[in-house]
Amino acid sequence: MKNISEVTNCYGCLSCVDRCPTKCISVTETKLGHQIPYVDQSKCVECGACIKICPDITNHDLKMPLSVVAAWNVDINERLKSSSGGIATLIANEIINGGGVVYGCSFEEPFEFKHIRCENIASLAKLRGSKYVQSNTVGIYTKIRQDLKDNRKVLFIGTPCQVTAVNNYFNKPKNLFTVDLICHGVPSVKILKESIPKQILNTQITNVEFRQNTKYQFSLLKGRFTLYNRPIATDLYLKAFFTGLDYRESCYKCRFAHIMRSGDITLGDFWGLKLKLPVYERGYGVSLCLINSEKGYNLLRSTNKQTKQHIRSLEEAVLENQPLVHPKKKTFRVRLFNCLYPHIGFRLATICAIPEIYIKSKIIRY
Ligand SMILES: Cc1cc2nc3c(=O)[nH]c(=O)nc-3n(C[C@H](O)[C@H](O)[C@H](O)COP(=O)(O)OP(=O)(O)OC[C@H]3O[C@@H](n4cnc5c(N)ncnc54)[C@H](O)[C@@H]3O)c2cc1C
Repeated sequence: MKNISEVTNCYGCLSCVDRCPTKCISVTETKLGHQIPYVDQSKCVECGACIKICPDITNHDLKMPLSVVAAWNVDINERLKSSSGGIATLIANEIINGGGVVYGCSFEEPFEFKHIRCENIASLAKLRGSKYVQSNTVGIYTKIRQDLKDNRKVLFIGTPCQVTAVNNYFNKPKNLFTVDLICHGVPSVKILKESIPKQILNTQITNVEFRQNTKYQFSLLKGRFTLYNRPIATDLYLKAFFTGLDYRESCYKCRFAHIMRSGDITLGDFWGLKLKLPVYERGYGVSLCLINSEKGYNLLRSTNKQTKQHIRSLEEAVLENQPLVHPKKKTFRVRLFNCLYPHIGFRLATICAIPEIYIKSKIIRY
């Protein structure tokens, strides 16, 4: 293999774009709008640098969890602002308070989802909340390299393929900490935009929410005002997302939808938790934390004062959390969506692929 153009299962981490010494790799899109690298073969010197760091080829650093913890932020207001137990934000706070920097996914105007660098507590608010779409990481690796050179502590939070890309790019420096999310797949920003009415998309949007704590609903905001709001019962984008219709191709063959993890800590929702808790406690969200390394243990321990933590079993962790066992299946519905989408667009392709779910959502709306 001479360069990244021969990789068949691209995860879209785009670390190859940052890594290429001759800058011959740029970004292009698939039919479904997913970003993939494009190599200008005339400029490629076949050094193999892009191949060495590609998560599809190099992913040796996967770790078996050392322990499983159910955890949540004891400050209810803070916890309600997060997706599950709010542990990602607490860990990020600790890194910033220790003089470090945090990289995570943010919505950026006019309508972009990308990893950004945060140097203070205020900017961490932009990372909060799960964005159910693929985040753009171009340029992030170069910034992390500089921070590590400057001897700063760096925390990177992202999907397991993105975390593997970061681990591959840097050879296990002691200052690099990683948190991977349990992930069942990512649609493209192109598809998300198509699911939104044009007149709304043309106005200024300052934030996008896919869930409010444990309640799934899709909202577009301008400052404090809600411009658009759809609960999961009636939102076609969330319906397609949870049915797994519109993920990038690599998600259906994902090597990281497995119990072996890439981050120092893995975070998700503790759906299978058997711990007896008051109904409100569970309703506010509980984080599933897989501690995968000593660094991960120390990261979670640094939040001890602000969290409640309970040691749980691995069996409980994988219960009702399929991405810890295998990737989403590429069903007939997915194939149908993939075939139809380029010709008839998101809405009609989704209706054809999941007609009974669409009809049910119409009845609920009515
Ligand atoms: C696409 C996707 C699919 C997921 N699927 C599952 C699942 O099947 N099962 C499960 O248990 N959990 C899943 N999660 C994880 C879950 O939704 C929460 O993100 C996780 O529990 C952390 O919650 P928190 O309250 O600790 O974090 P919060 O305080 O809400 O912070 C969220 C963190 O996630 C990062 N993030 C958000 N969106 C993205 C993105 N698109 N790409 C990369 N990083 C992002 C942000 O940088 C931030 O640091 C998924 C998350 C994503 C983004």
